[in-house]
Amino acid sequence: TSFDQMGIGDDLLRGIYAYGFEKPSAIQQRAIMPIISGRDVIAQAQSGTGKTSMIALSVCQMVDTSSQEVQALILSPTRELATQTEKVTLAIGDYINVQAYACIGGKSIGEDIRKLEHGVHVVSGTPGRVCDMIKRRTLRTRAIKLLVLDESDEMLSRGFKDQIYDVYRYLPPDLQVVLISATLPHEILEITSKFMTDPVRILV
Ligand code: AMP
Repeated sequence: TSFDQMGIGDDLLRGIYAYGFEKPSAIQQRAIMPIISGRDVIAQAQSGTGKTSMIALSVCQMVDTSSQEVQALILSPTRELATQTEKVTLAIGDYINVQAYACIGGKSIGEDIRKLEHGVHVVSGTPGRVCDMIKRRTLRTRAIKLLVLDESDEMLSRGFKDQIYDVYRYLPPDLQVVLISATLPHEILEITSKFMTDPVRILV
């Protein structure tokens, strides 16, 4: 399968090729189409497999840039990963004007507020900061239709379980969920059974 055969819009395809990708990686081949079609997806994958680009591509295809509201939320275990995902999303989504923003500790809340007032489609953040922004009503959740939990096992081992459940409670009921994890211990399976409906399972 090539990027052209995945149901990705022409302008976004141009963004992907301009970014330098020619052929989708294994996880991109198997995960992007189910995500675009609205399915919940569990992907067992390590870093370096193209998972960050897979997330960026999928959220770029999903968001409606004529709206100013946050429509996709990506949670990551570290500030570095959240920032990397923001960057890749901005780069790949450049041709279609996708606005992404990293909500991470260490930035001023004022900066978050200013940015989120100016039309952000994708928020990439760490669970603690995102939870905080939602509770302050700086991050509005009503238009969020896609939640991505990246490196989920790592988020749990860093003690973010309660914040993940907290964030989930604020999100709309018909939410689509994509979970990525290198391993699938009991606590991850608990999340998949609570958050997801008939998920597609992918192992790369
Ligand atoms: P990621 O796991 O998305 O961070 O990707 C790991 C590395 O592979 C990064 O340097 C990406 O730019 C690169 N990469 C991801 N997907 C592709 C692709 N389809 N074609 C070429 N390089 C890729």
